[in-house]
Amino acid sequence: HAKSAGANRYLFFNDTMNKQAVKRLQVENLIRHGLKEDLFAVFYQPKMDLLSGKVVGMEALVRFITPKGGLVSPASFIPVAEETGQIVDIGTVVLRKACSDVRRWIDQGLFHGRVAVNLSAKQFMLPFLCDQIDDILQQTQLASYHLELEITEGTVMESPKLAIDTMKKLRARGIHLAMDDFGTGYSSLAYLKQFPLNTLKIDKAFIDDMNSARGRNMVDTIVTIAHNLSLSVVAEGVETLEQLEQLRKLRCEIIQGFYYSKPLSADDFAAFLHEQKKPRLSLTANGNNW
Ligand code: C2E
Ligand code: MG
Ligand code: MG
Ligand code: MG
Repeated sequence: HAKSAGANRYLFFNDTMNKQAVKRLQVENLIRHGLKEDLFAVFYQPKMDLLSGKVVGMEALVRFITPKGGLVSPASFIPVAEETGQIVDIGTVVLRKACSDVRRWIDQGLFHGRVAVNLSAKQFMLPFLCDQIDDILQQTQLASYHLELEITEGTVMESPKLAIDTMKKLRARGIHLAMDDFGTGYSSLAYLKQFPLNTLKIDKAFIDDMNSARGRNMVDTIVTIAHNLSLSVVAEGVETLEQLEQLRKLRCEIIQGFYYSKPLSADDFAAFLHEQKKPRLSLTANGNNW
């Protein structure tokens, strides 16, 4: 009996492994098709300054557009793209689209901040990364200070010395650098002070924990670390007004999350920027905005 159960389990295991391999191959083929047919789109999520209430920047987030117009989230293809190396080509597409969209919004007088683009470890380690970024900025006629790059602790800790060199080269161009998903990786404080960063992004997991005193203390600590290192802080995944108010109390200066806006298509983001630009009249006695 036990033997047959064991045999079944063995078969089942093989079957699952097989399914995973097939799935991976399907995703890889889909990515190749998407790159060829220009099916990768860039969505934008605004970052809001808690003091001024204004949009100070946005994060570029890749989406795969299906033939029926549906959106596929990066969680389902980025891991495969990392494995196959296709992330490098996807990353190039995202950088180019983000830079040209922002250039257009600047020309239209809608925006003058920074666009943050996520870089994968493979991309960040490319020996020609800086040249490639120079080329894209040149092609899109975007000044380097409108660009920010988000990298994770895992990316820089793979080879910290090399990472510091690359970071310095990018900073020398006026490009800003943010540490993404901060607190979830394993970078040490000793390294953190050596990395030429501008910003720490507090991972959503810590924001989700703010309903407890311990959770709020954690966020307080991260904000304090950032400020002691003269870095600005962005809270990711802010979904409620309560979280926003707590973050304001803890002196976190920038928030990003569904509370303010979900990631939007380029067209919707342009409309959002238009809306932002409209002069706001102060509240009248009857509480009507108009
Ligand atoms: P990330 O860089 O940490 O981006 C933040 C993610 O949190 C985004 O997911 C965003 O849509 C989501 N998010 C923002 N606010 C909220 C909120 O209030 N609630 C919830 N539940 N989620 C929120 P998305 O767009 O699915 O991207 C997931 C991850 O995929 C990103 O995490 C990033 O690591 C990666 N990614 C996205 N675009 C790119 C890209 O162009 N290149 C690379 N290398 N990675 C990318
Ligand atoms: Mg990010
Ligand atoms: Mg993040
Ligand atoms: Mg994340």
